[in-house]
Amino acid sequence: MSNVKMETALNKQVNAELWSAYLYLSMSYDMSNKGFNGIASWFAKQAKEEFEHATKFMKFIEDTDGKVKLSPIEEVRQEWNSPKDAFEDTLLHEKKVTSLIHGLMDLAIELKDYAAQNLLSWFVDEQVEEENTARGYLAALEKIEKDPAALYLFDKKLGKRD
Ligand code: MG
Repeated sequence: MSNVKMETALNKQVNAELWSAYLYLSMSYDMSNKGFNGIASWFAKQAKEEFEHATKFMKFIEDTDGKVKLSPIEEVRQEWNSPKDAFEDTLLHEKKVTSLIHGLMDLAIELKDYAAQNLLSWFVDEQVEEENTARGYLAALEKIEKDPAALYLFDKKLGKRD
């Protein structure tokens, strides 16, 4: 890779994406423990998607003649009070990821790294989607959190994610 600064920053993002996968896996098992199997399956798929994000960054580092460096993944939270609590945390986390992606884009622009800019613009779009999804589910859960029948249906619906 032509720029060490970019390579280091992208490797850091690989770690952040893997941490995201770890976080959503933790949410998945916690939701499963609490009897929300549909939500658990949704978060498991979300974790898989985060792993794919990490893979996309790793492939780019390799393809641009850089070196992938895997560093330790920090511990994640183990328990959430409710599905609403989990989605609140999801939205908060995705906003953080968005700012990380924007920071990387700033760096790619500063370094005139056009290939990295292209990769990152995919992630800019992806983050709009991630935030929008989390915001939508959170809004739904705010309405139904005290209605077990509605929560049951919500759980079933999330279980249908492809
Ligand atoms: Mg991601």
